[in-house]
Amino acid sequence: MGCDGGTIPKRHELVKGPKKVEQVDKNAALAARWNYCAISQRPLRKPIVACELGRLYNKDAVIEYLLDTSPEKCIIVTATHIKNLKDVKQLNLTDNPTWKGDKANTKGDKYEDLQRAAFICPVVGLEMNGRQKFCYLHACGCVFSERAMKEIKTEVCHKCGESFNEDDVIVLNGSKEEMADLQRKMEERKLKAKLLKKARKSKTTETVVKSALTEGTV
Ligand SMILES: [Zn+2]
Repeated sequence: MGCDGGTIPKRHELVKGPKKVEQVDKNAALAARWNYCAISQRPLRKPIVACELGRLYNKDAVIEYLLDTSPEKCIIVTATHIKNLKDVKQLNLTDNPTWKGDKANTKGDKYEDLQRAAFICPVVGLEMNGRQKFCYLHACGCVFSERAMKEIKTEVCHKCGESFNEDDVIVLNGSKEEMADLQRKMEERKLKAKLLKKARKSKTTETVVKSALTEGTV
């Protein structure tokens, strides 16, 4: 059986692909993270959301991903920490007034195209093209360049005025170390929320039990 010239190729033989891997254009790879949804790989379009690890997604792609319960669902390894919509924050982005859309910027000049971005920092005007660090505030979702955050020390959001602390600052598409730090912060935040919920619940139970007891004794 088999081996008669009609052998069925195994999966790994099919997906191996060419041996020579093309050298990845680092700039293009970097730009991709800032322009494409980390779940659907489609171009980012408002409403755009970010997870607590600082990755960018199209909101509709996240909803679609969360709603998909079919056995064929393609599990996105990088999105396993997104369990519901509360795990992402809708971003308050500032449009780049000189941005004329993807098409207008495709002049064949790849270098220049990669410099352009649809969004800017509302404080210092830097373009969000992946060359400068950008972050968002967990409380309000407003997005700024790191330079603005460092140069103008503030305890309230530059854009909407909501107060925040250092732990609320989430770096977008950060380095490995920054991601590890964000992962730790995310776990801390989740644990805190869990404990708070538990505390509230036991408090309510306590009140219920107490009132039941008082009612019973009266
Ligand atoms: Zn804000």
